[in-house]
Formats: sequence, structure tokens, C-alpha cells
Amino acid sequence: MKKLFGTNGIRGIVNKELNVEFISKIAEAIGTWYGKNSWLAIGTDARTSSDAVKRIVTGSLCLTGINVIDLGMVPTPAIQLFIKNHKLAGGVIITASHNPPEFNGIKCISSTGMELSETDEEAIESIYFDGKSVPVEWNETGLVRNTDTAAQEYIASIVKHTESEHKKRKLLVVIDSANSVGSVTSPHIVERLGHIPVTINSNIQGSFPGRNPEPVKENLSNLIKMVKSINADLGVAHDGDADRAIFIDNEGNFIAGEVALATIAYDIIKRRGSGIFVTPVSTSSIVERYISSAGGVTRYSKIGAPAVSSLMIELNALFGGEENGGMIYPEHLYARDGGMTLAYMLKILSEGDISSKELFDRVPSVGFSKMKVHCDNSKKSEVMKRMEIESNGLKIDKTDGLKLFIDTGWVLVRASGTEPIIRVYVESTNEKSAMAIAEEYVKKIDAFIMDTGHS
Ligand code: MG
Repeated sequence: MKKLFGTNGIRGIVNKELNVEFISKIAEAIGTWYGKNSWLAIGTDARTSSDAVKRIVTGSLCLTGINVIDLGMVPTPAIQLFIKNHKLAGGVIITASHNPPEFNGIKCISSTGMELSETDEEAIESIYFDGKSVPVEWNETGLVRNTDTAAQEYIASIVKHTESEHKKRKLLVVIDSANSVGSVTSPHIVERLGHIPVTINSNIQGSFPGRNPEPVKENLSNLIKMVKSINADLGVAHDGDADRAIFIDNEGNFIAGEVALATIAYDIIKRRGSGIFVTPVSTSSIVERYISSAGGVTRYSKIGAPAVSSLMIELNALFGGEENGGMIYPEHLYARDGGMTLAYMLKILSEGDISSKELFDRVPSVGFSKMKVHCDNSKKSEVMKRMEIESNGLKIDKTDGLKLFIDTGWVLVRASGTEPIIRVYVESTNEKSAMAIAEEYVKKIDAFIMDTGHS
């Protein structure tokens, strides 16, 4: 069966893949799956198309008997928290996260505030592909209600979990929300925690004129400049739907996601003396090494925030997260959360007397490389099988793809679930070595692909 839902919902270019017919049909399938008379929340990021997509989804849901509460333009985790707190049947989020402005997406949330499981998404896909959506009679159509309280409830929950009685100092923090929904909440979170927010790219503008919404180093040069020029204590960048936070230290250095993840995980575990931390198999082992000195035990999940959250629940983990800046703090919400990540980092920094650079420098460094190879979907399983056979003799972890343990680190080879791509992640002693190993594996995969073509 064709997959519509990727690791983070359905994504596509507006009026190409995401045209009015598709949006209304998938929304009918979603409404049918939740069942008539359910109450669902809906909310969006700041994309120019988000309001239009939201209205089509809302109308189509109502015609399957769903009642919709429209939360407006707020961060993804604020929508998830609202669903959990108000005990709704679930929700739909209109966002394409870090993708460029021409994209949009549809993501479904369960009653717990977590993303729907793969099984549930497959059930919606079945309804869609089998044409089994059930429109209701004219007198059973759902209602639409609006509320503007989601942002305030979200800010209040974060402040409650991160307010500190041991705060020693007031921090100057530069926030770059990529002209999207992070600016609705993050400046207020910083202020409510007693610090000073300075913002760039803070006006809501769905074409994202300030920068590409993916918070990677090459997109953050203005944030880095601003942190340096005003001598800020910390810089933070969100992605388009603000479920991720990436940091810049007080000297303007870009901080890799795993370093921030290790810093927060270490602090949370140290306060308790022990605890389980969950992260995907693709995360650098520096996090595991660093937190073990605080009594932390690392457990690895499949890739994707929903997989991390599920394993966290199963193991009753203290904390979890991804290396891309998406951290999950369960006492607040079982979902990755950019605002929460920022607030927790401020708690650590404000209770100590070292700079953010000194704090991040405590995490050991390691070399990392990520590459991808084009591979037709039809050849993926053959190529992966071949890789496993050829790696005979190495220790292999098959949690997600093939993680091969080599002398200097590990290599993860994983076929994408949605794109014709095989990804290669390598960790080694330094970056040069990681890149050389990644290139070697890319060559190997290319050769396997060629062989498969001739068989
Ligand atoms: Mg996101």
C-alpha cells in the first residue's frame, strides 16, 4: 500500500501533492477514523497556506461529524498540550515543520497529545485508499469553536516545570523563530522566567523571509551575529513549528543538537541520581557517555519522535530526545518541545555561574557524518539484505535499519520510509574519519544498487 504518512505526518507542496481534493479526502478519512461526535483540536504554523489548508480540513472533518476546536496559529507542542489537558479525542496540526515555505503538511495527534502510532496512521490510510470514509447526515455535521488560550496554557505549563528557586542570574537571550510560531510563545517564556528576550525574525510571515525554517548552522548566521554583537548569554533558533530548539553559545558558536541534548539529559538525571534516557539509534554516543557519569542509562529507539515517546512510556524514562533539537520532557508532555527545551536550558544556566560556552564544552566531542544515496524503493530491501550479509562479523543492532559497530564508532545504514533514499550515519573519532567512512559506505551501497539492477 502506498504510504501517505511519513515519520512526521503527511507532507507536500501546496496545490501539487496537497491540493484541495486530496486535503478534503484525507480529512474525511481522518474524521471517519476518529469517529463522529469526537472533539478534535486543530492548529497551524505560520505558513501562507496554513489557514487555507486548515479551513478545508476543518470543513471536511465537520462533514464526517467531528466537532473542531480551532486553536489558531501556535507551536505544535502547544496544540499537543491542549489536547492532553482538555481530554480531547485528538487533533490535527497543519504544519510542514522545517520544510521550505511552499510545503505544508497534516499531522494527527492522539488523546494523549502524542503523535498517532504507525498502526493508527495505516488505519487512516486504509480508509482513504479503500474509499471507506463515512460522511454523516445533514443534521449530524460537527461544530467549529475558536479559542485563543492554547499559547497561554502552554507557556504556563513550561514556566511551572522550569521556574527555579535557585536562580542566580538574569540571562540575555536572542530568539530566532524563523518568522513562525515560536515567536508567539518563546519570548514570553523567557520573560516569565525572569530573563531578557531579544528577538530576530519574530514577525509572523509565512513566506519565511528571514531565513529557511530549518535550524541548521548555515541558516543561522544572523542569529550568530546578533548573539555576538549584543554579548548575549545564549541564542536559540526554532524550526517552523517550534517543536525543536537549537542553541548558539555566548561566543556565537553553533551547538550541535546532541551536545544540548547531552547537557539537558545530564542535568535531569543528575538531580535524580539515576534514570533512563531514550534517544534514536542515530544519536551520537557522546550523550550516552556523558550521562553515564551522572547515573544515566541510555536506551535506543527507532528514528522519529513518536518512537522515542513510546519507548519512554514503556521504560518509564526520565527524559528523551532527538539530536536535531527535539527534546521530550514527560512531566510536561510526551512530545518534542522547542519552548520546553529552551526553558530547561535557561534553568541550568541561571542556576550556575558558568557561561553557555563553558557548559557546552563539558560534553566530549566526537566526529559525525551524515550522507544519503539515491535508491529506488523497489531495490531498497535487496540492498539492505546485501549490506547485512557483507557486514558479517561486525556487531549489528537492527532496532532501525542496520547499525554496524566498527573499531572507531558505528555506521547506521537506513532506508527512508518515504523517499527513494538510503541514509548513512557515521560516528567516529573525528569528523575527517567519519566522513571517510561515510564515503566508503556510500560507494558500497552504490555498488549494491548497480548489482541489484543487473540481477
Ligand atoms: Mg518541527
